[in-house]
Amino acid sequence: MVTPTFRFDPVEMPPEALETRKEVRAFIKEHEHLMGFSRGEFNRDFSRAMGKKGWIGMTWPKQYGGHERTSFERYVVIEEMLVAGAPLSAHYTGDRQSGPNMLRFGTEEQKNYFLPRIAAGEMAFCIGMSEPNSGSDLAGTRTRAQKVDGGYKINGTKLWTSNAHRADYAILFCKMAGDGKEEPDRHAGATQFLLDLKSPGIDIRPVINLLGEHHFNEIFLTDVFVPDNRLLGAEGNGWNQLTSELSFERSAPDRFLVLFQMLQQMIRMAGPEPDKATAAALGKLISQLATLRSMSVSIAGMLQEGINPNNESAVVKDLGTRYEQDIPVVARQLFPAEPELEAIDLYSSMIARSTMNAPRFSIQGGTREILRGIIARGLGLR
Ligand SMILES: Cc1cc2nc3c(=O)[nH]c(=O)nc-3n(C[C@H](O)[C@H](O)[C@H](O)COP(=O)(O)OP(=O)(O)OC[C@H]3O[C@@H](n4cnc5c(N)ncnc54)[C@H](O)[C@@H]3O)c2cc1C
Repeated sequence: MVTPTFRFDPVEMPPEALETRKEVRAFIKEHEHLMGFSRGEFNRDFSRAMGKKGWIGMTWPKQYGGHERTSFERYVVIEEMLVAGAPLSAHYTGDRQSGPNMLRFGTEEQKNYFLPRIAAGEMAFCIGMSEPNSGSDLAGTRTRAQKVDGGYKINGTKLWTSNAHRADYAILFCKMAGDGKEEPDRHAGATQFLLDLKSPGIDIRPVINLLGEHHFNEIFLTDVFVPDNRLLGAEGNGWNQLTSELSFERSAPDRFLVLFQMLQQMIRMAGPEPDKATAAALGKLISQLATLRSMSVSIAGMLQEGINPNNESAVVKDLGTRYEQDIPVVARQLFPAEPELEAIDLYSSMIARSTMNAPRFSIQGGTREILRGIIARGLGLR
């Protein structure tokens, strides 16, 4: 008999979170000209403005530039920003995963140096995990670090690195160079570094996505020197650190709100008296959204209690990305339109953008198959 180990307790948002919501909405109104369709934009000024409001590193200790607020308040800030299509990219990775990873595994010097800068919206991080031959299979990483005097020499290639061309630092995942013999333990020697992207020997080349935009990159590392004090955690502990970082990445509420504006647009187009089929299709999307949100708020409650929501996050990400991928499909069925990226008509450009964006939802941050493997393990099925 398998014992289900998922926990989605119903959670009420505390009153302070409702106050925060009002404040965030007022801020968004003030910055309306910067809002867009989905959160892709990278805007350092906006991140600095959010830092000034205390909305980055919200739950971190004050001694490292954080604000010791609750996970619920943080949830509300992110939720409102995503729904509005705010340009979060310059601080989002640092806030969501690089900072928390450092809080957990970093040295005092690293926490004192990096965290206040991230929280102020001054320093942007990116994620250096995937490689040409290891995306899902991160244990197969080929990038190698070799111990040298005063630090490490790193060689290898990273791929799909979002915003590497704009960020300041990457958390780089690699392995320690061994003696060339096959290691029986595939996780042996795994190590993470805080990599200054301005270091000599780094060549960042653009990879253009389906939309014709420069969002991710390939990074070539040739004899890149990283000083001892930029080793994150311990040599050989990288796998443990990486899975912790991925769990921070997946527990965020950003996996089902990217197309919220499109849903709103469809509701507007349906009008106050939609026919039965339209009402049923939109009702299904809205009820799925409401359920996903309850599950996601419940995860915020777990984070608040210090519980690791690894399995629950995988469920929400998997269901959330399926829901997001359904939105453009339902839109095309209900309101057919010629997709055109640069169309003046908002809906035609939304159709084009969302259709071309949809495949990525179930790839980034772990593919559907990988997440389902995690869920199966959580259920004790493998
Ligand atoms: C928009 C976007 C942004 C990204 N940003 C970043 C970033 O900033 N930093 C970064 O490091 N990476 C980033 N990635 C990369 C992303 O994490 C990888 O693409 C993803 O992990 C899949 O790896 P892969 O592309 O090598 O595919 P593969 O691992 O080769 O997978 C190919 C297919 O095989 C399936 N598969 C693989 N292994 C198994 C298995 N064991 N069981 C069942 N099925 C399996 C997969 O589910 C997939 O369908 C980004 C990707 C996208 C789309």
